Amino acid sequence: MLTSNDPLLALSDLSVRFTLRGSTFSAVRSLSLTIPRSTIVGLVGESGCGKSLTARAILRLPPQNASLSGQILFHGANLLDVPEEAMRALRGRHISMIFQEPQTALNPVLTVGHQAQEVLEIHRPDTKNAMRERVLELFSQVGIPNADLRYASYPHELSGGMRQRVMIAMSLLGDPELLLADEPTTALDATMRQQILFLLLEQSAARGMSILCISHDLDLVRSFAETVAVMYAGRLVEQASVAELFSHPLHPYTKGLLAASPSALKPGVRRLTTIPGAVPQLTAMPKGCPFAPRCSLASDPCRKDFPPRCGDASHAVYCWNPLWVHVTCSVGQKKVSAQRTYCGQKKSCWAWTDERSLPFAKLSVWLMCTGWTSHFL
Ligand code: SF4
Repeated sequence: MLTSNDPLLALSDLSVRFTLRGSTFSAVRSLSLTIPRSTIVGLVGESGCGKSLTARAILRLPPQNASLSGQILFHGANLLDVPEEAMRALRGRHISMIFQEPQTALNPVLTVGHQAQEVLEIHRPDTKNAMRERVLELFSQVGIPNADLRYASYPHELSGGMRQRVMIAMSLLGDPELLLADEPTTALDATMRQQILFLLLEQSAARGMSILCISHDLDLVRSFAETVAVMYAGRLVEQASVAELFSHPLHPYTKGLLAASPSALKPGVRRLTTIPGAVPQLTAMPKGCPFAPRCSLASDPCRKDFPPRCGDASHAVYCWNPLWVHVTCSVGQKKVSAQRTYCGQKKSCWAWTDERSLPFAKLSVWLMCTGWTSHFL
């Protein structure tokens, strides 16, 4: 029996594998991620890290030669066990997607109005006039001028930005509970981008719609999402609230990604920071942590095993040597605010404090902190 506290969607140990010349390669590996109700979750990472593939896996629309394993729990039911007919009823109605490439996602031989109206005919049938009115209403809301004229246009007659708006309108027509938005605003100019984001926020608030916003645009995710998950080479490496992740990234890759964002450029500096090296090939994934070849903190354990999950539900990270973090921990009866290095799976750690009320802190000593397990497993 589901309660209102249960997440709308829970991915558990999700993997997407491809078989190539007799060998199997995982493009998404053991991904566990939850999307609560009425929440906007950002999913970020470099191109090819498995973000879009994850969204397609949720809809059970992976590429033809891919296989899925793990669990995709939606309303408590594992979508990997649901018959194809039930999946067809679910796509577009309960879960819909804004595809990254509207040019290929739209049918070139049908008008965009016809294609949009089909969504209503399948999921929310009504009279022809009522459905046409609803399509025109949404076309106008997403900023399509002369919506009644555009209704009869073919995809090739529209600009890239206009096609993207059609896709956004189509994704909202079924009143979904979950929207998978894959780079929803890439083809739009800055003004239209704000308008679309506002519309999505409005829809999310008005109808309790959850959104998985996939993007490599960190600034967009920062302004739009509530929590954010970071993927690297098919793995989830960090997840936290937007405020927490952008102010205290724990994973070296996340820190590098934030530093490489244009908004991180300091005045007078013209060159963007980059992360040295490249994302590993799917066919040549290193053992252990896939980021190890590019990571300045890599140590022996990093090259042997993928790190376990550290942290709690508010900030989780997969790293053997996470970065400094500010925590509050207990020393006897006293709560102490401290900076510490994260100690992975150990049950205690050393923390640095300048808490003046502690006599030994005046000596600037390291103190042993044992109360942190309530914050970090
Ligand atoms: S596990 Fe090791 S290699 Fe991977 S990000 Fe952490 S420190 Fe770097």
